[in-house]
Amino acid sequence: MNKMDDLKRTKIIDLLDSNEFGKIKKVMGWVRTRRGSKNVAFIAMNDGSTIKNIQIVVDFEIIDEELIQRIHSGAAIEVIGELIESPGSGQKVEVKANILNILGEADPDEYPLQPKKHSLEFLREKAHLRFRTNTFSAIFRIRHAMIFAVHKFFNDRGFFNIHTPIITASDAEGAGEMFRVTTLEMKNLPFNEDGDIDYKQDFFAKETNLTVSGQLEAELAALALSEVYTFGPTFRAENSNTSRHLAEFWMIEPEAAFYDINDNMDLAEDMLKYMTKYALDNCVDDLEFLSKRLSDEEKNKKQEDRSGMELIEKLNFVLENDFERITYTEAFDILRNSKPNKKKRFQYLIKEWGADFQSEHERYLVEKHFKKPVIVTDYPKVIKAFYMKLNDDDNTVRAMDILFPQIGEIVGGSQREENYDKLVKRMNEMNVPEKEMWWYLETRKFGSVPHSGFGLGFERFIQFITGMGNIRDVIPFPRTPQNAEF
Ligand code: ATP
Ligand code: MN
Repeated sequence: MNKMDDLKRTKIIDLLDSNEFGKIKKVMGWVRTRRGSKNVAFIAMNDGSTIKNIQIVVDFEIIDEELIQRIHSGAAIEVIGELIESPGSGQKVEVKANILNILGEADPDEYPLQPKKHSLEFLREKAHLRFRTNTFSAIFRIRHAMIFAVHKFFNDRGFFNIHTPIITASDAEGAGEMFRVTTLEMKNLPFNEDGDIDYKQDFFAKETNLTVSGQLEAELAALALSEVYTFGPTFRAENSNTSRHLAEFWMIEPEAAFYDINDNMDLAEDMLKYMTKYALDNCVDDLEFLSKRLSDEEKNKKQEDRSGMELIEKLNFVLENDFERITYTEAFDILRNSKPNKKKRFQYLIKEWGADFQSEHERYLVEKHFKKPVIVTDYPKVIKAFYMKLNDDDNTVRAMDILFPQIGEIVGGSQREENYDKLVKRMNEMNVPEKEMWWYLETRKFGSVPHSGFGLGFERFIQFITGMGNIRDVIPFPRTPQNAEF
């Protein structure tokens, strides 16, 4: 008897695309707004399947007005009604309600998301509800599409996905930035004769941490499967409260045997362009929404802070242009002779060869000098990790960082040192414990080959695609210093 039960729910994205006018449909979702006149109410409803709402038309002769008065922004409802052609502009269809049920009410005096613009800072404190805003639902749909695109890109090229460990005993990148994993009792730590904490009594009988990168393990797999990639969570306890750093973020790390640094750069550029094109092809509505949001925001900015390009324009620009490829030394010369350096407008002045570039320098190269993405190669060995292949000059390594507009470094990678003796020498110079890395070193003893890889910070890439200025707004639940709510 109750028609509501056997009728299947139609998602709003499919409904908006349907022309089965006159058919009875069932929709479920959350109310964005309700407005009305004497005899009818109009409810804008969204179920997250698309940024677009469906309009529900409620005739008080069919549905009790008192019930409708209880429906406010944020409430969940289900509607059964007739799909009709929309007389108004905008949407092509709407639903004329025959039956309406409130699934969950939302008290307007308490519900924090009113139908007005809220600041991103405010919404960060409401991360449990911000999914329900247009901005965040758009971001997280795009984020999903990009995850899918990553796997498709690599699968289509014959790369194998490898799950590398989250808990690790190796410190790949250098000490001090790792989160410890332990089951030892904090209030009652065991000590050995030397007065150090006795990790032998810990769960793994050694000191363990959350991983900062899956690269070292991915290398092991690449030296058998040829082309692999990891895409997993990584953790860094760096106390940098910037708009580009998270304590927990996701990283895509391909690793490929028989690739030199040029193959590596080609792979990275192809991947970034593939993902960008995938977003443009598959996320049009969400990108248009974010693009408009961004240009509205730009209007409130000072002229010099404006990016000058609309979001979609910017994405197309990256697609259509080859990335500029220069060495560290060339970049260094450009920066040293640049206006902001001479006029002392950089916070960190470029003086001596060998210093690492800061975000302000990276952005100058991309946004002001070349006006396109830049790949910087051959960095001084002293500022890079031990595993990067040493150049013949004995002074620089075959590193490659990719720099993007507004963000700075988005990819860090290199050709790896495949020579056993050279690798051991670098480890010793950089105080990397050779003994604990015996397994890594063995790959250079048995069938070692040239190989390369890189890490793309997934959230930084999502910042680029969505135009969001703060990395906290492109991951559902950001982890940053002093903040692990939700
Ligand atoms: P940065 O100099 O910007 O701190 P990094 O040199 O520490 O970055 P890598 O170790 O090369 O970064 O890591 C590879 C990629 O991971 C970076 O290019 C970046 O996109 C991303 N990444 C690194 N640290 C973070 C972080 N704390 N939060 C989000 N993404 C990060
Ligand atoms: Mn780096």
